[in-house]
Amino acid sequence: MKPFKNLSIGAKLLIVLLLISILPLFVVTSGFYRLGKSKLTKQTIHILDVQAKNTSAGINRYINFKFKHIHRLIDVQQLIHILRMSKEKRPRIIVTAVSSFRAKLRIDPDFLSLFLLDTEGNVVLSTTEKFNGNYAVRPFFSEAMKGRNYVSPPCVDGGMSCVYFSVPVVQGDKKLGVVALQCIAEELWELIEHENDRVGLGNAVILSNSDGVRIAHSTKRDLVFKSWVTLKPEIKEQILKEERYGSDIKEIAFTDIPEVMEAVTSVLPPQYLQHRLVIGKETYHSAMKVMDNGWRIICTIPESTFLEPVHTNIFYMSIVVGVMTCLVIGASVVIGKLGTKRINVFTSISNEIAKGNFTKEVPFTDGDEIGQLGKTFNIMTASIKRKIEQLKYLNDVSVEIHSHIEVEKLLQDLINISRRIINAEMGVLALLDEKRKNIKYFKVSLTNPLEHFQIKEQPEGKGLLDVVIKKGQTIILDKVFEDPRSIGLPLNYPQIHTLLGVPIKFDTTVVGGLFLANKASNERFTLEDEEILLTISYQASVAIENARLYGEAQQLAISDGLTGLLNHREFHRRLDENIEGSKRYNYTISLLMIDIDHFKKFNDTYGHQLGNHVLKTIADILKSQARVVDVCARYGGEEFVMILRETDNPQASVLSERIRSTIFAYPFKHDGIKTQLSVSIGIASFPKDADNAEELIKKADEALYMAKESGRNKVCCYKATQSAH
Ligand code: GH3
Ligand code: MG
Ligand code: MG
Repeated sequence: MKPFKNLSIGAKLLIVLLLISILPLFVVTSGFYRLGKSKLTKQTIHILDVQAKNTSAGINRYINFKFKHIHRLIDVQQLIHILRMSKEKRPRIIVTAVSSFRAKLRIDPDFLSLFLLDTEGNVVLSTTEKFNGNYAVRPFFSEAMKGRNYVSPPCVDGGMSCVYFSVPVVQGDKKLGVVALQCIAEELWELIEHENDRVGLGNAVILSNSDGVRIAHSTKRDLVFKSWVTLKPEIKEQILKEERYGSDIKEIAFTDIPEVMEAVTSVLPPQYLQHRLVIGKETYHSAMKVMDNGWRIICTIPESTFLEPVHTNIFYMSIVVGVMTCLVIGASVVIGKLGTKRINVFTSISNEIAKGNFTKEVPFTDGDEIGQLGKTFNIMTASIKRKIEQLKYLNDVSVEIHSHIEVEKLLQDLINISRRIINAEMGVLALLDEKRKNIKYFKVSLTNPLEHFQIKEQPEGKGLLDVVIKKGQTIILDKVFEDPRSIGLPLNYPQIHTLLGVPIKFDTTVVGGLFLANKASNERFTLEDEEILLTISYQASVAIENARLYGEAQQLAISDGLTGLLNHREFHRRLDENIEGSKRYNYTISLLMIDIDHFKKFNDTYGHQLGNHVLKTIADILKSQARVVDVCARYGGEEFVMILRETDNPQASVLSERIRSTIFAYPFKHDGIKTQLSVSIGIASFPKDADNAEELIKKADEALYMAKESGRNKVCCYKATQSAH
């Protein structure tokens, strides 16, 4: 079965067509042949039987008829008289008798001559001079002398084919001699020929002697004394001696085909024999006894002769089968080529697609099966192409969103990319606050940037939004406005028809949702779209988390570990930034340098741990006094700095004084210890007191020094010292 499967379509088609068209034709033809052959064989055997019977009967009639003529011809009394007469007296009467016989011989044109033989076989009288001498060896004499009528087989005597009929001349019980009549053998042949012609089978009719010697043949006029049996040498000698087949025959040929021998020599059946012989080819044979003298008629025909019409039909049938086979082969080749031609196109296009070339399309989209396959193939190719593009996009998304460290930009990109991949008119991203109660972030992106879309109030996260961002479920809706849960969505503009929403999760916690609305060309959102959006959402969650962690790390890098204020390095960066801002926008900034008074003593008295607590508390006080735009930093040890934006010396002095008094009034408590602390503050302003950051710090430090010098728990501006008491 496997080799058949591997065959080409054309070859398979050829085999199938041959099986369904040629094989039945072949079977029917061979069936007809067998049927015809068996019928014809039966008929032929029957005809051969009838022919053998008829021919045998005809020969019998012929012989009887001849004997009848002979009896009419001869005057037995006269013959007896002659034979009994002495040899001397005979000549006179013989002359009369001969002339009378000669006249009588005319009653049968076949009669050639008549002659009378005495008991010794000597010719007593003869109508022709040919017969004289002694014929004692010849069967026509010896057989008749046995007292019965005898007919010889056709034989050649004096170059003439003839048959001898002989009758004994008897007086009482005494045999006086034999009268013999020589006849032309022609009539016997004609008889056989005539019977054969009448049947018209085209077969051969053969008359055989009891010796097995062929003595007449329907198609061979000349006598060929060919024996069908192997003659024993003595019999052969006897035949030659007796001149059974005439005096001219010197040798008798023979054959030794066993079937023929059996047919000719077997004990004669009551009526006739039937044999099927093989002489190189199938031959049918019907044999019939003719007389009691051992003659028999054999009607024979080769199978090929009587089956000729069948063979002719088979020949024409074979031509038809041959032509049909050629047509079938031709049709198979054409159909196979037509079929495989298109399949080959499929193969080459598939190869192109396998190489990543999606521009190729199957060119045939007819209504037949292959055409349909072509259509489906093209749809499949387009789908794969789309999938690959989406995968590419997803990859881009991954690369793009992971490259972001700024959360805001990342989220904006996420919405835009999602909308672009799935081809939606609108994209929304919503994130919940830490307590997962309210929406803290809600961003919308639209296809047309010119379309302005703004939500007056952030949605509360009810309805459909709720389903996604609170319950963490996915939604796909075709008619959003018909859904009562659409209350949480900004439905006014643009009108939302179709909606796809997926949750954004960190592990199992839902932190927000990603939404797309109104897919292009009024299409529905599909499960495939959902899958893609879920993938983006997963990427988003990871990226958001990364960005958050980065933010935290960044915060750590700029913060002071103990107080949580900005560290020394960040202070310098911010101071540079502020001086730049001050120069560009032309406003004043003031720098406060704050130092705890006698802190060393405090540490020594209460311990370092309590000292740390104090540092944290003072940092909190500074933060509480500062505005959002102001910068609070730990300058080092127990020194703090503050950068006050758009603040001149007097304004800075007011704030400094408030800080100083707040700290001085602050009851520092720890482990039951209650203490009081003070700070000294130096102020310098830019650009009034310094030209650059370094100088500004230096001036503020000088002002602090002045505050310390003037007794501590003081606020001093550069070049001017004032007490806050
Ligand atoms: P004054 O400024 O009034 O002249 O006196 P002071 O004792 O504060 O001066 P000084 O600058 O000599 O001492 C600073 C002290 O601050 C030294 C140290 O014990 C203390 N200090 C610095 N950093 C820390 C800190 O991180 N934790 C604690 N607990 N103490 C600190
Ligand atoms: Mg100090
Ligand atoms: Mg100090």
